[in-house]
Amino acid sequence: MTSPIRLDKIFEAVNFAARKHHGQIRKDQSSSPYITHPIAVARVIWQVGGVEDDLTLISAILHDTLEDTDTTENEIKEHFGEDALLVVLEVSDDKTQGKMERKRQQVIHAPHLSEAAKLIKLSDKLVNCRDILQSPPKNWTLSRRREYIQWAADVVSEIRGTNDALESAFDQMMRDAEAQLEFTIMPFRSVNQRPWAPDLSQSTNHQE
Ligand code: NDP
Ligand code: ZN
Repeated sequence: MTSPIRLDKIFEAVNFAARKHHGQIRKDQSSSPYITHPIAVARVIWQVGGVEDDLTLISAILHDTLEDTDTTENEIKEHFGEDALLVVLEVSDDKTQGKMERKRQQVIHAPHLSEAAKLIKLSDKLVNCRDILQSPPKNWTLSRRREYIQWAADVVSEIRGTNDALESAFDQMMRDAEAQLEFTIMPFRSVNQRPWAPDLSQSTNHQE
């Protein structure tokens, strides 16, 4: 028998993330409070993905706290346990790297993520791409919006086989994006033509 969902811990995570993201805004037209984003990510995991796992939902709500706020690893561990910390670490970029290198690292690491981290990555990309279609960041050109969606599609390609419903929702978003932004999303096999191409030379050099 599965244990009942820990609503107390989920509300605690919402409260924690809301305090940590206080004062931060999304890049959309109406400058929405940032906390709307992690809530939206947890919501699609639950409503679209049908996932009722505490660890995944709590980590989804916390997914941008380490990367974008003053939250420490110890705080997450103390309040939500080591398992949640490990998932949040998995979905956090290394901010000492430049933006394009971070994009490359996400493509490289995607297939090696835990199941909870894959669900969060997939839902994070779905929510951000829908935002880019419905309420894009101010001042983003058409090419920047297309480029982001191509990159998200590349990352998601590397985690397919995780959740059919979320992947179908992502596929629908891709079709909407192609129609609305008038471009063609390229398949993953051509990823090495893109700025975030995994550097294949590093893995082949050893064989010489
Ligand atoms: P950013 O990383 O700067 O912004 C995207 C991130 O912003 C998302 O991943 C999301 O992160 C967050 N976000 C906040 N509000 C929104 C919203 N309304 N909709 C969608 N996302 C939102 O942008 P890029 O991914 O474009 O990365 C920058 C790279 O792009 C650099 O390498 C730069 O050189 C390049 N660039 C490209 C240009 C072009 O025209 N192609 C122009 C300028 C730069 P989260 O989930 O963490 O909140
Ligand atoms: Zn996010």
